[in-house]
Amino acid sequence: KRYALMLSHGLIPTYAQLPVTFEKGDGVWIYDTDGKKYLDALSGIAVCGLGHSHPEVTRTICEQAGRLLHTSNLYQIKHQQDLGEKLASVAGMDGCFFGNSGAEANEAAIKIARLYGNKQEIDNPAIIVMDSSFHGRTLATLSATGNRKVHAGFEPLVQGFIRAPYNDIEAVKNIAANNPNVVAILVEPIQGEGGINVPGTNYLPELHSICEEHNWLLMLDEIQTGNGRTGKYFAFQHHDFTPDVLTTAKGLGNGMPIGACLVAGKATHLLAPGNHGSTYGGNPMVCATALTVVNTIENEKLSDRATHLGSLIASGIEKKLSNCKEFNHVRHMGLMLGIELNTPCPELVGKALDNGLLINVTAGKVIRLLPPLIMSDTEAEEIVERVSQLVLAWAEGL
Ligand code: PLP
Repeated sequence: KRYALMLSHGLIPTYAQLPVTFEKGDGVWIYDTDGKKYLDALSGIAVCGLGHSHPEVTRTICEQAGRLLHTSNLYQIKHQQDLGEKLASVAGMDGCFFGNSGAEANEAAIKIARLYGNKQEIDNPAIIVMDSSFHGRTLATLSATGNRKVHAGFEPLVQGFIRAPYNDIEAVKNIAANNPNVVAILVEPIQGEGGINVPGTNYLPELHSICEEHNWLLMLDEIQTGNGRTGKYFAFQHHDFTPDVLTTAKGLGNGMPIGACLVAGKATHLLAPGNHGSTYGGNPMVCATALTVVNTIENEKLSDRATHLGSLIASGIEKKLSNCKEFNHVRHMGLMLGIELNTPCPELVGKALDNGLLINVTAGKVIRLLPPLIMSDTEAEEIVERVSQLVLAWAEGL
C-alpha cells in the first residue's frame, strides 16, 4: 500500500505537488484543466519572463520544429553560434558553453574552476560558496549549495567547497588569508531560493576586487537573476565590473530547457575539445528559441520594464500592508521580490491558489514573487491587490 502511495501516477515523488494541472497560458494568465484562471506571479520560478504563449517565442518554436530539432555537437550549429555571440556581447564576455539546465551550467563553472586551479598546480583547488545559496541538485551543485536540507542523505558531498556567510566581505578575506588553495568564488548576485537576499551595494564589487587581488575566478550564478529580471540583462551590470564566469538558465529559454556558462579573460581558454560536453546542449531548437528570447528582452526594453514594475509592486504592497502586524518588509530588485512576514506562512501558497494566484514561499516566511516582465501596469496592480488581500486575510485568521 505504502509502495502504491509513494509511486502515484508512475512518478517518483520528488515534488510535493499542489493539486492543480495547467492546460494553457496567455501572458501573465494561466488556466487549469477546469478552465479556472490564475494570475501567474511566479512564471514557473523565473522561467517564463516573456509570459505564456509569447507570439515571437511561439513562432520561432513552430518554425524551427518544422525545420530541424537536433543535429549533434559533432557538427557546427548556426543557432548556437548566433546565440553564443549574442550572449557574449550582451554580457561583455568572451564565449559560452550550452547545457540543458541551471545545474548543468554550474557544473561547467565548477569544472572550469578545477581546471583553472589544476593548471596552476594548486593541490585540491577550492571554491568559496555562500550560506543559504542554491546552485542545483546534481552532486557537485548540491555540494556547493549552502542548505543542509539539500545535502541530507546524499553524503559524502563533493569536496572542494569552503563556506562563508552571504554578504560578509570580512569572512571571505579571512578565508583568503588562511587557504592558499582557493581558486574561485561562486555566488548569486541576489539569493533566490535563500529568501530574496539582496546584498549591500558594494558586496559584489568587493568580491570582484578580492578575486583580482588573489587571481581567483569570480563566478556569478545568474540562473535566477539573469535575463532582464533585476532591471539589467544580468544583475552584475548594475555595477562596474565583469565576472570571469557567469551561469544562466531559467528565463533564457522561456520554458525551453537551456543553460549557459559564459567565460571571460582568464577563464576563457580552459575548456577544450574532449574535456566537456552535452548531447542536447545548444541544439538548434533551444538556441533558436533562446535567441528570440534575448532579442525580445532587448528590443522591448524589458529590463527597464522590470525596474518599473518591480517598484510599482514593492511600493504598492508596502502601502497596503503598512498597518498589518504580520508584515515585516519587502526586499526587491526589479521583478525579484521577497515579502518577509513575521510568522512562517507556507500555507499561503495553497490559499493563493484557491484565490487564483500563483506565488511561492521560501525561507519559511518570505513570499517570493517572480512575475513575467511583459506585464501591463494594470496586471502588476492586480498582483499588489491579490497578494495584499491574501496576507491581510491570513494575518487576521492567525
Ligand atoms: N542556481 C540558482 C540560483 C537557481 O535558482 C537554480 C534553480 O532554482 C539553480 C541554480 C538550478 O537550476 P536548475 O533547476 O535549472 O538545474
